[in-house]
Amino acid sequence: MSELPIVGFEVVERSYRLSAPFKTALRQLDSVTSIAVRLAAADGTEGWGEAVPAARITGETRGSILAALEELRGQVLGRDAADLLDTARAVQQGLVGNPSAKAAVDVALHDLVARSVGWSISRLLGTAASSVPTDMTIGAGDLEEMLSASTRALADGFGLLKLKVGLRGAADGRLVRDLASALPEPTILRLDANQGWTPRQAVRVLEELDRAGIPIDLVEQPVPAGDLRGLAFVTARSPYPVLADESARDAHDVDRIAELAAADAVNVKLMKCGGLLPAREMAAVARAAGLGVYVGVMMESGLGVRAAAAFAAAEGDPVVHDLDAAAWLADGPQAGLSYERGRLCWQVGGREPKLGEPADGRRDPRSSSRRD
Ligand SMILES: [Mg+2]
Repeated sequence: MSELPIVGFEVVERSYRLSAPFKTALRQLDSVTSIAVRLAAADGTEGWGEAVPAARITGETRGSILAALEELRGQVLGRDAADLLDTARAVQQGLVGNPSAKAAVDVALHDLVARSVGWSISRLLGTAASSVPTDMTIGAGDLEEMLSASTRALADGFGLLKLKVGLRGAADGRLVRDLASALPEPTILRLDANQGWTPRQAVRVLEELDRAGIPIDLVEQPVPAGDLRGLAFVTARSPYPVLADESARDAHDVDRIAELAAADAVNVKLMKCGGLLPAREMAAVARAAGLGVYVGVMMESGLGVRAAAAFAAAEGDPVVHDLDAAAWLADGPQAGLSYERGRLCWQVGGREPKLGEPADGRRDPRSSSRRD
């Protein structure tokens, strides 16, 4: 007999406004579309997870996520959540691709099992930590816009700024130099070009910054995702460590990256790989190959960020992760999250936040939901 049979699978859509537009080399966002999954067990325990459309990154749209969730519903209803590994594997094997839809179900499943014994996901994953260090992302813009966002982030206590670049080709070097010289020393920067440079442009920019003595802890996804040879070209010549993001979607990608020495580290995101089960596999493959592991998020609500934070804490790498998305939400991070002095903090123990409801307890009128 099942210990924790899954009897409910509900999809709840919501839109969260951002406090400022978020601009990268790939897209501009003014809001986050969250497609949450609520799993319910026969004893009334709930588990929540979230998917977000990111067509330019994962290929997933709102419509494709809803269709994939319909498929996954059949994979998990009636299964035993307490048989966590088997059920999580069934989610992964339920269909090819569709990583953020799978992540929503995988995280909801882990959350359900954790809550059934009064735990948080972080505790379920094996850590008692309640915070991890995170950077703050500075969206792409002109010097004045990026300087004012950077100044605000430093005032809010973030010590490491991730600059979105990649829109100006080799001229990005000048922008970063000007910005760095206008910021108080020592402000540590990381760069994310979101595939916006050619391999040669990337090397030119990075050499220029190195000559100018700009402190940069890493450079993320300088070249197009599929160009692993180009990525390896940059990694071989870069004065700074190179982090693969869009090039590293799953454990198989990580294996290829290691084989080609295409990057120094990988950015693991639940939305990109399909949830906690594949994320742990990705991190294990990376470490076995000598690659560093960072944990990042897409633009997600507190629901998604909370699971990524638990994963980052449990993996235990002594690095500054990229988990600032919930700080961008106009109504605050919710889900029991807060940002304090450059760390993402969450509640643990007996005060597990109620997930899935707006802060004021009302259902968002824009949400659509269906129950089984
Ligand atoms: Mg990135």
